Amino acid sequence: MKKIYFTVGPSQILPTIPGHLKQAVKDDVLSMSHRGKEFADLYKRVDTGLKKLLNIPSDYYIFFISSGTEAMERSIQNLVEKKSFHFVIGKFGDRFFEIAQELGRQPEMIEQDGAQAFDLKTVQIPKDTELIAFTHNDTSTGTQIPMKFIYDVHTKNPNAMIAIDSVSSMPYVDIDYKQVDVVFFSVQKGFGLPAGLGLMIVSPRAVAKASELAQKGFSIGSYHSFPTLAASADKYQTPETPNVLDMYLLEKGVQEFLKIGIKKIRRDTDRKAALLYKFFDKHPQFRPLVTDTVLRSQTTPVIEVIGGSKDLLTSLAKKGFIVGFGYGAYKDQHIRIANFPALSLNQVKLLIRAIKEENRHA
Ligand SMILES: *Cc1c(COP(=O)(O)O)cnc(C)c1O
Repeated sequence: MKKIYFTVGPSQILPTIPGHLKQAVKDDVLSMSHRGKEFADLYKRVDTGLKKLLNIPSDYYIFFISSGTEAMERSIQNLVEKKSFHFVIGKFGDRFFEIAQELGRQPEMIEQDGAQAFDLKTVQIPKDTELIAFTHNDTSTGTQIPMKFIYDVHTKNPNAMIAIDSVSSMPYVDIDYKQVDVVFFSVQKGFGLPAGLGLMIVSPRAVAKASELAQKGFSIGSYHSFPTLAASADKYQTPETPNVLDMYLLEKGVQEFLKIGIKKIRRDTDRKAALLYKFFDKHPQFRPLVTDTVLRSQTTPVIEVIGGSKDLLTSLAKKGFIVGFGYGAYKDQHIRIANFPALSLNQVKLLIRAIKEENRHA
């Protein structure tokens, strides 16, 4: 039976990936040197394609790293001498904060659950904060922070760098990159690709800040420091041997998304999310964790299952629907459903139908 992966990452791959993999073998992508012209052309195509798809300013850098978690560490190492400030809406925001602590910085944080929005009037961000970190969409709680709020924080704190974890909301989230400095994601979620590649979109001002820290004698990391990555990127290269195959697949994915059009991808995501929430809001056995529609994740809804989620997940799996279990302590209480571009409206309808049926039997 063909399974459909509604898991939040790794997730369902784009339907065209098997074909692209065969082509990659034929084209000797698997032996491609990362120091040759072919690789530089590939890097350039991904760079140009992503900038077009996501409307990224041409002077911003696109760096290839290994994962979303690595991007958290790189952001702190390169942009924070002492103080970062973290808006935390779930476990991934917590992780970002912890990494700052582990690296010996003095981070502060404010935490909010999905029931309530942050109120900028009451948030105290210290004047000497160097980096303000956001999780746009926290995959553990199915909560999102509206971009408008992030821009308002930037306007009130123009000297601080703004970093956004958009790992589980790319390419859906529409960002005005001019107002932010670091946006990062990995490819195994919304891009529908195999895991093993992370991307950072970095402003020129962030690269300059990292260089300043280095000049002051501060350690900003080694082969993946912003200045090192930028020097390589200027030649369409990476400092080390990267995941060339995933970059090749990403380029194919970006071209497909460009053909569909980002507006349609975003509209379809909203449409599928509306269907899911409508179903779960009405159903007495389910309770979406976030009720405020502004704070609700469009890409990774998290739903509480009254009486436990284990049996439901097991029987759905028997029918080929692989749905995510709850995060951490909520493993058997919640379900998490990916609503990424690789999953079609029809597949979402099939999932809803299967859940309805399960419930009749229960
Ligand atoms: C998955 C995820 C991460 C971690 O990404 P990795 O590529 O697994 O390191 C970070 N933040 C969010 C919001 C995520 O969903």
